[in-house]
Amino acid sequence: MSISHNLSQLYQQIQQVSQRANRPQNAVKLLAVSKTKPVEAIEQAISAGQRVFGENYVQEGVEKIAYFAERKDLEWHFIGPLQSNKTRLVAENFDWIQTVDRLKIAQRLSEQRPAELPPLQVLIQINISDEESKSGIAPEEMLPLAKRISELPRLQLRGLMAIPKPESDPAQQKIALQQMQRLFQTLQANFDGIDTLSMGMSDDMQTAIECGSTMVRIGTAVFGARDYKG
Ligand SMILES: *Cc1c(COP(=O)(O)O)cnc(C)c1O
Repeated sequence: MSISHNLSQLYQQIQQVSQRANRPQNAVKLLAVSKTKPVEAIEQAISAGQRVFGENYVQEGVEKIAYFAERKDLEWHFIGPLQSNKTRLVAENFDWIQTVDRLKIAQRLSEQRPAELPPLQVLIQINISDEESKSGIAPEEMLPLAKRISELPRLQLRGLMAIPKPESDPAQQKIALQQMQRLFQTLQANFDGIDTLSMGMSDDMQTAIECGSTMVRIGTAVFGARDYKG
């Protein structure tokens, strides 16, 4: 199947699920996760109307952003784990980072964000169900970290991101997504400009939309299987 076919199916599916879940029209964006995929694949997605892309690896993402530098209408999200020695590349090249889980990283990103660019758009990553994972903060750390991030001049806090542990039982899967929804509401009640809840991948997209996701992150169903695990 072609990338453009895949995308139009996904747009339709997102719209149908949103409608059934009583979500406003266009409340849910599709982030096309293009990690490991060549620029030709991204070009096809752009031709099909996709504008928002997610990359996991700093160097690979920076090369693609440079390749598409003339296209000012694209939005690039960094969605991988970030080490402090790579913050400058993210600060100088990406529009968004979804995986902030340490104040030190946030401070570096703010210091390194070039003055001529708009503030870097930030999501805090929450470790909602996968205690094994080293990424993301515990829910009770959210408000203190959000407060510190909101004081950084070159960052703009927009919301939360999570990668819940896959569960075979949909009811179990829903528990984590509902916890994220409540955290998001708490964040919204405490800070201005919070509008983005990034959760939902291929397997839990529908439940994520029912639980208030505003951005689903899909790779394989857009671009096909990856050659190596990303
Ligand atoms: C790779 C990745 C995705 C997309 O995964 P697929 O299984 O290819 O749809 C979504 N979110 C994150 C954080 C990822 O790293």
